[in-house]
Amino acid sequence: MSLDMILSNVRLLGREELVDLGVQNGRIAAIAPFLNAETPRWDGGGALAFPGFVDSHVHLDKACILDRCAICEGTLTEAIQQTAAAKAKFTVEDVYARAKRVLEKAILQGTNRMRTFVEVDPRAGFRSLEAITALRADYSHAIDLEICAFVQEGLTQEMDTFAMLDASLNMGATLVGGCPYADPDPDQHISLIFELARKQDVDVDFHLDFDLDPSGSAIPAVLRATETYGYGGRVSIGHVSKLSAMAPEDVQNIARRMSDAGVALSVLPATDLFLMGRDRTKLVPRGMAPADVLREQGVVTSVATNNVLNPFTPFGDASLSRMANMFSNVAQLSRDSDLEAAFAMVTSDAARLMRVPDYGIEIGGVADVVLIDAPDAASAVREIAPVLAGWKAGKQTFERPRARLIKP
Ligand SMILES: [Zn+2]
Repeated sequence: MSLDMILSNVRLLGREELVDLGVQNGRIAAIAPFLNAETPRWDGGGALAFPGFVDSHVHLDKACILDRCAICEGTLTEAIQQTAAAKAKFTVEDVYARAKRVLEKAILQGTNRMRTFVEVDPRAGFRSLEAITALRADYSHAIDLEICAFVQEGLTQEMDTFAMLDASLNMGATLVGGCPYADPDPDQHISLIFELARKQDVDVDFHLDFDLDPSGSAIPAVLRATETYGYGGRVSIGHVSKLSAMAPEDVQNIARRMSDAGVALSVLPATDLFLMGRDRTKLVPRGMAPADVLREQGVVTSVATNNVLNPFTPFGDASLSRMANMFSNVAQLSRDSDLEAAFAMVTSDAARLMRVPDYGIEIGGVADVVLIDAPDAASAVREIAPVLAGWKAGKQTFERPRARLIKP
């Protein structure tokens, strides 16, 4: 057998014994306990091999701006105001440099697919889009970057933004995102986003229900529009912290309707924990949607990074291993099966949400492989296991050798 390389001694999800992966022309050509071929060999040392982390929700354009924002209240309103002020001064070079910093971190944390939101409006112009589109091309060897043209600051009161979103979809963005809670007319906002999505034949992703009032959810409006426009399987909603304030039977009911309609959910634990419940002085609520409960009802769910080092989330290293752990800890999960589900939410389920067509390590599939220093998925989440190395289409993209203890 002629192989370009062998990735030896790795574990695959759901398989006990160690295997060798044979790579040829960027694809997995063989999987066997031992591959005998005269070809370069990379010893995986028993690490878990998986197809890579999938970050379904990241704002690269407004990352790393703590130096130009003041966080006093830590509320969502303040975060939007502070970021809007900073955004007016963004340049193409500035956005590129900050986004690059986060994208490189993500690649080094084992992420090889990402959906990033890019704000397009009269303040941002197309500068952020121009920067992120260039970044996507420059890092395509290591990560597939999907660009969602996004309106953060309302649409119906500023319809210039609508034409700009439309134009963005001809300039490199491949889906469209809305934010009804920031619009004076949320229902009309939802309709406009769906209209544009249908016209351009692209998927939609909404920031939704980002508060702790159990009433007034925009989910029914999104479900109605999904049906009206025949968009089942092409819609995702992010945050949805209202779900954390609802009665369990109401959550079950909404989960079934989302599952039936084909509306997926992204939970963004770091931002939800930082911004929610700022009016409380004690027993501050977590404000994180119970994605595990929705997943059990068949909803496609993901856990994602959202923001890094800005007024929405003044933390972050772009590690989805850490984010799956944070989600599991806050959701009070403990069984192996629940932690395996959390791992799926940053890998295979997130890939389903993004409708990635070729996700998985199998013979004939693309050789996208990341090694993580854990025996199985549950352990990876429990211990925030570090990644060790990664390949994209058979080419190595990073290496992070195991830490080594030095004895006297
Ligand atoms: Zn977001």
